[in-house]
Amino acid sequence: MRAYNFSAGPAILPEEVLKEAAAELVDYQGTGMSIMEMSHRGKEYSAIHDECIANIKELLNIPEGYSVLFMTGGASTQFPLIPMNLLGEGQTADYTDSGAWASKAIKEAKMLGNINVAADCGKEIPTRVPAVDELNLTDGAAYLHITSNETISGAQWKVFPEHECLIADMSSDILSRPLDVSKFGLIYAGSQKNLGPAGITLVIIKDELAERCPDTVPTIMRYKTHIANNSLYNTVPTFPVYMLCLVTRWLKALGGLEGMQKLNTEKAGKLYDCIDGTDFYTGTAVPEFRSNMNVTWRLANEDLEPVFIEEASKRNLKTLKGHRSVGGIRASIYNAFPEEGVDALISFMAAFEAKHS
Ligand SMILES: *Cc1c(COP(=O)(O)O)cnc(C)c1O
Repeated sequence: MRAYNFSAGPAILPEEVLKEAAAELVDYQGTGMSIMEMSHRGKEYSAIHDECIANIKELLNIPEGYSVLFMTGGASTQFPLIPMNLLGEGQTADYTDSGAWASKAIKEAKMLGNINVAADCGKEIPTRVPAVDELNLTDGAAYLHITSNETISGAQWKVFPEHECLIADMSSDILSRPLDVSKFGLIYAGSQKNLGPAGITLVIIKDELAERCPDTVPTIMRYKTHIANNSLYNTVPTFPVYMLCLVTRWLKALGGLEGMQKLNTEKAGKLYDCIDGTDFYTGTAVPEFRSNMNVTWRLANEDLEPVFIEEASKRNLKTLKGHRSVGGIRASIYNAFPEEGVDALISFMAAFEAKHS
């Protein structure tokens, strides 16, 4: 039996995708080899690589003048790469601090240049992201960096700020909703939450930005190297790209990002209704900024939280423990998380409350 896996990342994958990968794992389409064992420049892998990029461009309706890149080192490696490539000498970059991930991005950027924290609500409880009208922006800033969804606190940007060069860490909500990519200079996401297994970082970049990179940046760390080489400057992690390709096919078959947003809103909405329906549970995030991907809450009696997590686990509802830095309960319900699992959690929550109140 498959578990209802609420893990924040690496996270649940669509069962259909796992089965398809399993079916062709040992012998990829009659070649007698796994896709993992083939050249990253051979015709079988090239077809996957190019289809994956084309599917992402189609799903996100990415305009001309942008590139889709597969990089490595996780979203965390983008934290320093962004200022190295895009923050010129003497310039300032604006960052919003909305929690743990944003503050890690800020910490790295501060080692490399002048950083202005344009809004700081990273430690507020209830948790939230900044409102667009509270940003204290620098004139002529090189870029503005935001974290579209704070995976740990469960807060999400619903309306994005306008900026000449808007950069977003979308590790935990990429491909969960339609997006106007033309409003962004650069978008990045580690693969292990909403895209596939761990191992690649998806980067969507406006090509002209990559030209800002100074010559002092090593070749492998330049966006323009990866653009010029179609992400094949060095050996790309072929298997994670293959898995992402299968996930993009699955998304297209389900009606693309509009279909996905509808499903995600429905799943999260049910769970928030359940939390709001009783004083036994309290949502962690300010309602208008609640994440549709990571739903976070506390029990009125915090001592009952470990019992909640343990009893849930016995009912096949796995990995509901909040992040070690904040505690509480977190249900990560990414694209691949089935609606029946949310229903099962809601039934469990009602039964748990009846038993313990
Ligand atoms: C998980 C996560 C990261 C870190 O990703 P790695 O791939 O482990 O480096 C960064 N930002 C956000 C928003 C995340 O959820």
